[in-house]
Amino acid sequence: MSAIDDLPPLREVITTHGLSARKSLGQNFLLDLNLTAKIARRAGELSDCDILEIGPGPGGLTRGLLAEGARKVLAIEKDERCMPALAEIADAYPGQLEVINGDALEIDPLSHLTPPIRVAANLPYNVGTELLVRWLTPKEWPPYWQSLTLMFQREVAERIIATPGSKAYGRLALLAQWRADATIVMSLPPEAFSPPPKVHSAVVHLTALPEPRYPADPAILSRIVAAAFNQRRKMLRGSLKGQAPDIEDRLIAAGIKPTDRAEQVGLEQFCALARMFEKD
Ligand code: SAM
Repeated sequence: MSAIDDLPPLREVITTHGLSARKSLGQNFLLDLNLTAKIARRAGELSDCDILEIGPGPGGLTRGLLAEGARKVLAIEKDERCMPALAEIADAYPGQLEVINGDALEIDPLSHLTPPIRVAANLPYNVGTELLVRWLTPKEWPPYWQSLTLMFQREVAERIIATPGSKAYGRLALLAQWRADATIVMSLPPEAFSPPPKVHSAVVHLTALPEPRYPADPAILSRIVAAAFNQRRKMLRGSLKGQAPDIEDRLIAAGIKPTDRAEQVGLEQFCALARMFEKD
């Protein structure tokens, strides 16, 4: 029995079900249920929400979310070996946990969820950043989710909250801060995980804004910003040359000096620049 529920401790769950961590799936498990309950509390009020959890693994965060009163958790896990352990949690919380065995990058979870919806995940960082960009760039806004509470490598978390002029500033900061409020709410040392990763981690909490801070088309903004930061040391008139033959005029019309570098340009100006491409 653990401190937060009547289920066995996670170490025992991992041994019983033979869940040796696989590097190919980015598996670094959280084993301290008090810590996972604390992360769940950072996700906000859970009792009136459905929670989409990506990558539950042996279920540490899942149990934290349920123990903290989540109305329902939908958990999507790629590793089939985790299914029996997750089924035990579903039995302990009848009707509150639905598990899908599959790749979160290929599954549309919406038909399994009832709004309001929050997202919580501790994912390998490449899957995490890919999903974050997708969650931030739907055509319509507001999105289906109210908040995202996501574990990242500390360095990625800092890229999400970065401000202009800093080394970490780039596409992730711009897309996140365009449509959400983003803050780092917790830092975790490597020893919090089993096996310990090489780097520190952090939990980022993002709350969806009712509307984007400035108007722009998400696909265009994403494309322009990616091109601008792809060669971040170059002047924008060079890095964005391939985007339009009259790029210098468009930069000037958006209030940006063609000789500026991407990291000197703020969100409002990037949105203005993206709008210059809407009639193409
Ligand atoms: N949430 C658990 C925890 O905190 O202990 C596990 C975290 S572990 C860092 C990442 C989990 O994501 C693993 O269980 C892994 O199998 C799963 N995963 C990796 N890629 C995935 C994908 N594309 N879709 C769904 N789950 C994935």
